[in-house]
Amino acid sequence: MEKCVFCDLASGKAPSFKIYEDAKFFACLDIRPATLGHVLVFPKEHITFLSQMREEDIGRLFQICKDIAFALLKAGAKGVNLIHSIGEAAGQKSTHLLVHVIPRYENDKVVISWQPVEVQQDLMQKIQNTLINSLKEVEAGKEEKSEEVSKETEEREIRENIPNYW
Ligand SMILES: [Zn+2]
Repeated sequence: MEKCVFCDLASGKAPSFKIYEDAKFFACLDIRPATLGHVLVFPKEHITFLSQMREEDIGRLFQICKDIAFALLKAGAKGVNLIHSIGEAAGQKSTHLLVHVIPRYENDKVVISWQPVEVQQDLMQKIQNTLINSLKEVEAGKEEKSEEVSKETEEREIRENIPNYW
């Protein structure tokens, strides 16, 4: 496997400003933080997408993020953004799954913004129907999904499917 900085952080091979650790998860300060107190939370196992994790582990991952978010608020942050990016187009830069927990302060330099687009009613309905069906397929796939679905196949599916939904 390619060298992965997050695997090294989780194993202790690389030094970190650790905030939290348990058997499956690791959280440390981002060394290039968006704001002071920016924390990265990630599984110790080298996983790229949430779809490769067990449902209960995904639950635990977000519990940890929630606890760290409220710890940041207690420590003086005025707000917190949780950012998880799926796919390169969304800004996922690492093949190791990450959640950014970014504390916000008045007049910080973080920009999370978009221009709302105009969408006709009939296209909204088409998107609604497509998404409802797609969600059913995802939920059905979870039940019948066998252990041997390779990570490579899932990554390819995500790359191929996401841009073509509409
Ligand atoms: Zn890794």
